[in-house]
Amino acid sequence: MKIYISADIEGIWGVVSKSHIMNTGKDYERGRKLMTDEVNIAVEEAFKNGAKEIILNDSHGSMDNIIIEQLHPKVKLISGQPKPLSMMEGIDNTFDGVMFIGYHPRSGSQNGIFDHTYSSRSIAEIKINDKSLGECGLNGRAAGYYGVPVIFLSGDTTVTKQAKEEIGDIETLAVKDSLSRYCAANLSRLELETKYREKIKAAFNNISKYPIISYDGEIKLEITFYSTVMADSAMLIPRVKREDDKSVSYISNDYMEIYKLFRVMISLARLDS
Ligand SMILES: [Zn+2]
Repeated sequence: MKIYISADIEGIWGVVSKSHIMNTGKDYERGRKLMTDEVNIAVEEAFKNGAKEIILNDSHGSMDNIIIEQLHPKVKLISGQPKPLSMMEGIDNTFDGVMFIGYHPRSGSQNGIFDHTYSSRSIAEIKINDKSLGECGLNGRAAGYYGVPVIFLSGDTTVTKQAKEEIGDIETLAVKDSLSRYCAANLSRLELETKYREKIKAAFNNISKYPIISYDGEIKLEITFYSTVMADSAMLIPRVKREDDKSVSYISNDYMEIYKLFRVMISLARLDS
């Protein structure tokens, strides 16, 4: 089996403060080590349960957080940026399953560790065909475009609930109970390892049963920004329609066009934030 992993840092066990996740933070070296360690626990179990090849995409911030020299020696790492598919760079139709590790809840989620959707500064909400989605739902649809199911997601208690709503009945592991945006009650280290063993085993046993999300026909993207000027900037893009003061929309039949387009809008919004 060939497995694709997209790993973020906010939903990693033990990570709770900005100092863990920003590369200028005093605890960043600890944060990136916790991220590398947790990925190692997951891939060890994945190899035990039948994975033959694993591609890992570093999906946080500058996307060069994973410490390659400490990573499981059989894992291939995509590190750095820019990359056209961002958090899903490297995905294609040759994979048997996708795993999301260290994911966080979507923008506007109460008790969601570092809740945001791609950008904490600009995005209040992203909807696809009227359904509000966070990174797990948006990235899960990128996997679905290539016919690959998402089989597993780990993060806090809020994102694990959202993954079931946004993707479907996949295997999830809540490594911490979010008590606020920057506070969580973590599992013990022993529980973390035991639960990873159980959940990854279940994910691989059921690999043929997980949903693949794909679209037939029109797909409507709707983005609500935090300010009007961000929506003004998005209007530079041809065929983008203004919905209201802070919201724009775009229609396409091609999900990957939508996926690239909202990231262009975030880049344009950044110029004004
Ligand atoms: Zn991140």
